[in-house]
Amino acid sequence: MRQPESVPSPKDPPGHDLWIRTEAWGAFPGLIHGFSRRLPIPLTAASTGASLDAPGCLLHTLTQVHGNAIVHMGSKEATPALEADGMLTTEQNVLLGIRTADCVPILLVAPHKRCVGALHAGWRGTQQAIALRAVGICAKQWDLAATQLWVALGPSIGGCCYQVGHEIGEPLFARWGDGQPATWNPRGEKGYLDLRAINRMQFIQAGVPQTQIHNVGPCTFCHPDEFTSARREGAQAGRQLSVIGWQPA
Ligand SMILES: [Zn+2]
Repeated sequence: MRQPESVPSPKDPPGHDLWIRTEAWGAFPGLIHGFSRRLPIPLTAASTGASLDAPGCLLHTLTQVHGNAIVHMGSKEATPALEADGMLTTEQNVLLGIRTADCVPILLVAPHKRCVGALHAGWRGTQQAIALRAVGICAKQWDLAATQLWVALGPSIGGCCYQVGHEIGEPLFARWGDGQPATWNPRGEKGYLDLRAINRMQFIQAGVPQTQIHNVGPCTFCHPDEFTSARREGAQAGRQLSVIGWQPA
């Protein structure tokens, strides 16, 4: 019997593809996107492009600081030291990459205007309504109506596991929870917050049709074989990478 050439590391996601995609977005020609599972090794720009079947695309990443700054990425190489939590572009050949390990990675696309975006939304970014900011910038910069946007909210810690203090959960629920108990479940001195649901509400409130907002992937905390979780593994946990961009025409 033929021996395997290498034994997979225990951190390789067993039996899974590296990338999870939004099925409905397969209909958008030229769009490249994916939410990674746990990365077996850190991805470089070259290996990210190659594994998404988009070799030669320039990968932009940020120094994410839990704020709501969103930057426009051009075709020139930007410094990964740039501090922001969101990126938008209409350039071809450019990939936008967000790193997360519990926070919500958000990808956006407006197919007919060839605009894409990637956001990082932890509780602080959510409190600062980074989702609403992104929709606002798209409207101002590209005259995009919210109804022209498609949104995917990637693998992140779920309401099942994300325990936070009342001082964090209550204001988010009051402002964005729409009275839905699933978004904030107070229990004793703390409570459980569904960050993905709160971000979804922000997009709905901004005017994005519910049918154009997808949840992709499960709770990162509940699925240690597939995802890193900062809550479970500590600050030194690795990160998932979520990527979006346009293939060259
Ligand atoms: Zn969970």
